[in-house]
Amino acid sequence: ALSSPELLSAPKPLSAPEVEQLRLDFPILAREVNGHPLAYLDSGATSQKPLQVLDAERNFYLNENSAVHRGAHTLAAEATESFENARATIASFIGAADDEVVYTSNATEGINLVAYAMSNASLGRGAPASARFRLGVGDEIVVTEMEHHANLLPWQELAARTGATLRYIPIDEYGALRLDVAAEVIGEQTRVLAFTHVSNVLGVINPVAQLVELARAVGALVLLDACQSAPHLALAVKALDIDFAVFSGHKMLGPTGVGILYGRRELLNALPPFLTGGSMIVSVTMEATEYLPAPQRFEAGTQRVSQAIALGAAIDYLSAVGLDRIAAHEAVLGQRLVAGLSEIEGVRVLGPQAGHERVGLASFDVAGIHSHDVGQFLDDRGIAVRVGHHCAQPLHRRLGVVSSTRASTYLYTTDDEVDRFLAGVADAVTFFG
Ligand code: PLP
Repeated sequence: ALSSPELLSAPKPLSAPEVEQLRLDFPILAREVNGHPLAYLDSGATSQKPLQVLDAERNFYLNENSAVHRGAHTLAAEATESFENARATIASFIGAADDEVVYTSNATEGINLVAYAMSNASLGRGAPASARFRLGVGDEIVVTEMEHHANLLPWQELAARTGATLRYIPIDEYGALRLDVAAEVIGEQTRVLAFTHVSNVLGVINPVAQLVELARAVGALVLLDACQSAPHLALAVKALDIDFAVFSGHKMLGPTGVGILYGRRELLNALPPFLTGGSMIVSVTMEATEYLPAPQRFEAGTQRVSQAIALGAAIDYLSAVGLDRIAAHEAVLGQRLVAGLSEIEGVRVLGPQAGHERVGLASFDVAGIHSHDVGQFLDDRGIAVRVGHHCAQPLHRRLGVVSSTRASTYLYTTDDEVDRFLAGVADAVTFFG
């Protein structure tokens, strides 16, 4: 089996010395918390940042600080060039054209942008091509039962504003989408299908191709929430054949305050704008305005320049390490997490069980112990995890739990950190049990 071509070409997980080497780029990982070395297992909420990213942001303020696309002076030209170079880096990272990449504040804003632009279209705003985005009574928006609130509430609001109906694809007990039901839920009335690539709670990777096929068959638009995939797995937007994708810079080594909306060029240019104001127009009279094409038509106001440049540096960093190797590293850590958790009495792992495909995160419930107590117990040992409903209340309700504890890994996570976490959970169960 060792000589099978598949195994030979499979990306190698990062080795322990490689992980130790790249941890040096993240000084925060060397700090102590409550008298213990920090074990940061909350990258699913936000990642740590390497020096290369911090330096890129600092260098911008030290040497180039200026508004972009405005001034006639050298600093403005340099800032604009760096800002646009970062866009090109991000575009090539996901296989898109530069003008298909819109800077937003985060993924939440990206989803709201599309939903609000669609409700503007539904009011009759925009060019004739905007008719494609008009929703009304009888139209349906489809999401899934595992969505983060960021990919649920904007669609609830859009439905409320337009009279459209929101429907969802349910999951099975292991967190897999019920594709048999999806084939019934997605029908001639479906205008939009919005779903997450990877669940922030279950760690499950959703079957994008099958869902896109169902949407294409009925002419529905597809928006992919790539928040938990873009930082960890290769995201090829053209190969996935999606219309829109969103993700946040802060989860992929970048700073807060910057996210990305990818959209197919012809769709972005047909969408009416969401936020309006400076820097997005061809001409303005007191009566009417002609808007620029994408991406500027969605980038009103003074832009998040330092953050965008730093996100470009983050993506350079990820590309240098290799996303395929990062994914392989995290897949190993994910299995280690789930195998270890499954052995602890009273622990129920949410989502795929040991041995089944998942990314490097795992959420779990401990019978009779509140997740906040587990989190506090672990924090006393310097172990950082996330507790609560992880902005996915309907999912937790479906699984019959009020909250859960989540450990999430990244390229800098070590086996030792996972083992310390597992020992901590076992001790918490004994302590509270
Ligand atoms: N979607 C998923 C799957 C997420 O995990 C998150 C963040 O936790 C979001 C959307 C929202 O991201 P942000 O808060 O950065 O906009």
